[in-house]
Amino acid sequence: MNPPTAPWVRPGDAGYEDARRRLSVSAVVPPDRPAAVVRPRDTEGVVAAVHAARAHDLPLTVRSGGHGTAFTALRSGALALDLSGLDHVRVDPAAGTADVGPGATSLAVAEALAGTGWSFPVGHKGDVALGGFLLAGGNGWNQGDWGSACESVLSAEVVLADGSVTRIDAASGDAFAALRGAGPAFPAVVTGYRLRLHREPVLRARTVGFRADTSPALAEVGAWLDALAARVRPEVELTVVLGTGASGTEAVVRATAFGRDAAHADDLLATLDDDVPERATTYVRTTTTIPALLRGDTAPPGLATVAQQAWTRAGYADVLPLLAGPMASAPSSRSTVLVSSASYRRSAPPATEPLHRPLGTLTVAAYAVWEAGDGDGSAAAWPTATTEALAGLVTGHYVGEADLRRTPGRLVRCWAPGGLARLAAVRSRLDPEGRFLPPPGDLLPSAATRFRPPAAHPVGAAAPGPVPEELTA
Ligand SMILES: Cc1cc2nc3c(=O)[nH]c(=O)nc-3n(C[C@H](O)[C@H](O)[C@H](O)COP(=O)(O)OP(=O)(O)OC[C@H]3O[C@@H](n4cnc5c(N)ncnc54)[C@H](O)[C@@H]3O)c2cc1C
Repeated sequence: MNPPTAPWVRPGDAGYEDARRRLSVSAVVPPDRPAAVVRPRDTEGVVAAVHAARAHDLPLTVRSGGHGTAFTALRSGALALDLSGLDHVRVDPAAGTADVGPGATSLAVAEALAGTGWSFPVGHKGDVALGGFLLAGGNGWNQGDWGSACESVLSAEVVLADGSVTRIDAASGDAFAALRGAGPAFPAVVTGYRLRLHREPVLRARTVGFRADTSPALAEVGAWLDALAARVRPEVELTVVLGTGASGTEAVVRATAFGRDAAHADDLLATLDDDVPERATTYVRTTTTIPALLRGDTAPPGLATVAQQAWTRAGYADVLPLLAGPMASAPSSRSTVLVSSASYRRSAPPATEPLHRPLGTLTVAAYAVWEAGDGDGSAAAWPTATTEALAGLVTGHYVGEADLRRTPGRLVRCWAPGGLARLAAVRSRLDPEGRFLPPPGDLLPSAATRFRPPAAHPVGAAAPGPVPEELTA
């Protein structure tokens, strides 16, 4: 077997298990076994790897930052491209643009922009990479004012399934829509993005803590938040984090204001400062920056993570009480549920509507985070059970934060009506053989399916019986 130019490892090679596990940042991963893992260093390396996949008739999967909640880079029998090395960040302050590699993390991009006068709606977790984040849509910082991160993508260099290199931009029709929302269903490899930057804001933050271990207590916090959300400007990002403290469930409301200057940022939060409820246990005012927010929220390495998300059009007062039960059974004190306002204004509708669109006004995301070991299966099921507690309030799912291995049926609810058909057409056009494995779920009946997707085991599942046929030289 002729390997691509970049180093690669196959089952039986030293380092295979490490390369397999590194396809996700989670310390516990599903048992799937790729046919090989390649780590290209540049676009030419990606092209070579795609040609190698064609020569050996292998399906392809891609990893950028490894935060994908469906572990889609890790599929049995596929050639997995690990793009973590394509992590360049080049800022052009005169043009107000940046060129970034898919492996560049949110923190790396935020740090490169600091002090340039420019900013970007990177993800809320520092090590989420731009590759998967922008493809999924990107619910980034200051979404209320800047929109979803994918709306600030000007173009991308991609390697297609035939090994050709092309650029997708606003003139590319629905391929450009898919670049901004197809998530793990995108049928090509993104090797670089050109991003439109936003003027660097001045940030002010408030955190307001509450004891919230009963449904009525959570309903009270929710009613206050609904009233606050109706008053604050879109430049204020509102999130409530449910976690477990010494005395049970705690709700910490984070309000982050993105102002033109310090006076504007303070002004944006005045309505909150005037109305902190008496029953709040903590109230902290800070001046911060996006890099500081990301650095302050890093988890130690070696933790397992599984996530699940749901959109809803219900208010905080309806949603939060339903989360009292799930929080009481959280698998660890690190496990959290984040509920954030997702509505935002747009200065002008984009020429080609991105495939990604918030499918509700609140996003509810549950993260099980635990030390690897016993109970992996039950911990991994908790985020799904948590979103199921919302039952009839759910209006859709975000493809970037869906555990599609456990709930493949949610895939079709990740896009607005019509989105699936547009995606199917793009997949058939860009990848007529279906070489890029689709995510788990009944995606696109009309798309090419040369490669039958292998079973996708959820985290916590037993290792598959017969190991897929190993490639030999
Ligand atoms: C703890 C945590 C916090 C998160 N916070 C946020 C948040 O604040 N906002 C938000 O919107 N999302 C958030 N997410 C979801 C996250 O944005 C998505 O899971 C995203 O896909 C991660 O990107 P990645 O490159 O790190 O992951 P990867 O696992 O590398 O990528 C996921 C999948 O996307 C596709 N893909 C990735 N890169 C490429 C590429 N270059 N070319 C082609 N296909 C590619 C592949 O199918 C890949 O398997 C969070 C997830 C976690 C676990």
